[in-house]
Amino acid sequence: MLLGPLRPVPPVTEPLWRTWSDDDLASGKAAEPAKLFHQQFEARSEKREARAAAAARKGAFLAAEQVLAVVTVSPNNDLGNGGAGNIIVGTSAVSAKGWTSDTRPPFPVLVASVESFGRAWRLAKAGTPVTLRFDVDTTTFSEHEHGYNVVAEIPGSDPKLKAQVVMLGAHLDSWSAGTGAVDNGAGVATVLDVVRILRAVEAKPRRTIRVVLFCAEEQGLVGSKAYVATHFGYSTAMKPPRLGEIVAAADLKTLPAYEGLSAYYNMDHGPGRIRGVFAGGNAEMGGIFAEWIKPLGDLGVGTVVAHRYYAADQSSFEQVGLPGVSFLQDGLDYDTRAHHSNLDTLERVSPGDLAQVATVMAIFVLKTADLPEACRGYSRTDRGLVRRIWICFCLIPLAERCYEALKPGIFHAPVSHSADRHRHFRSPGRGRSSPGRPDR
Ligand SMILES: [Zn+2]
Repeated sequence: MLLGPLRPVPPVTEPLWRTWSDDDLASGKAAEPAKLFHQQFEARSEKREARAAAAARKGAFLAAEQVLAVVTVSPNNDLGNGGAGNIIVGTSAVSAKGWTSDTRPPFPVLVASVESFGRAWRLAKAGTPVTLRFDVDTTTFSEHEHGYNVVAEIPGSDPKLKAQVVMLGAHLDSWSAGTGAVDNGAGVATVLDVVRILRAVEAKPRRTIRVVLFCAEEQGLVGSKAYVATHFGYSTAMKPPRLGEIVAAADLKTLPAYEGLSAYYNMDHGPGRIRGVFAGGNAEMGGIFAEWIKPLGDLGVGTVVAHRYYAADQSSFEQVGLPGVSFLQDGLDYDTRAHHSNLDTLERVSPGDLAQVATVMAIFVLKTADLPEACRGYSRTDRGLVRRIWICFCLIPLAERCYEALKPGIFHAPVSHSADRHRHFRSPGRGRSSPGRPDR
């Protein structure tokens, strides 16, 4: 069955390839889509739930009609243009979720490009018999599939700080239409290259650096959610938080390792160069990042974005109040052509761009691992209170013990004076520039 109607094909009036100018970075234009994503959170969640319910009803009807197979038309892309000539998969038109055993339809569902679909559609509509031949080979292993996260560490060198952790990661899974080179082979390769760089420069991070390659991000951040819930914290609320929602402090159950995580750095927006970093609403962290990017202008890094990035694996950390950091990258043709499509192949990846990404990420990870204090503080925190405690702390040395007793969860003790922090960042050997650029 050809499941219609045929969708319109809007003209392509904007370039399908995006790199950001300095003005785009300075004006906030480059980060605007991520801002809108969170501003429209409620409306989008409702729309998504309504769409899923309608698709499930459609699937149940077609199953009752004993349909043999369904062909749907490839949708337009995330930006509303350029969704022609390629095949975008991901959103099921006939089930709430096409990938879970309890909701997937009992018949094969295929996606055709708008051109192929349109040709068959028009012929059928004109009364000409159309024959479609499929070769579908899919295996379901069990009713309950197991997923695995891949974890590795560089142990910290400071006896007092090595129990604390800086994490970086990317997701291992991808969509079936392409090979997953950009979503998220590029992220995985970068994360591995960060480790290679740190080993090559013989870095001795004070804190432990932990790499995690998450499974099943595309099915709803499954791997990272499970990891965070197992090691750091989870919501005790009856209704689980929605994608990107922050857990209320009253519902948050934290685990012992919670206090030991400095930050999680995620890489999941294709293979474009890093142009900035999202501070995710954490003003303290934003101030630190602003210092860190100053010497990175020659690499094209030019902005700290105050708000949060889209929902990806870093959201699982943000959700429980931990710093989940993403970078602002040149979009290239990620959102316009490659994302979840048959064009997600190695042709979209430039090794030179990935070398820049790994270099910048290595700098952030190493600097965080060597911070005298961990970054903390999300929307659930009273920033004014934090500032007052901070000022008291600077003035009264004895306040350290009070601070420890209060455990506000903002900074790790021992908290050093800001002048020490400054000196630490610029100490010889760690330098203003890259700790080590990969060979190109
Ligand atoms: Zn991804």
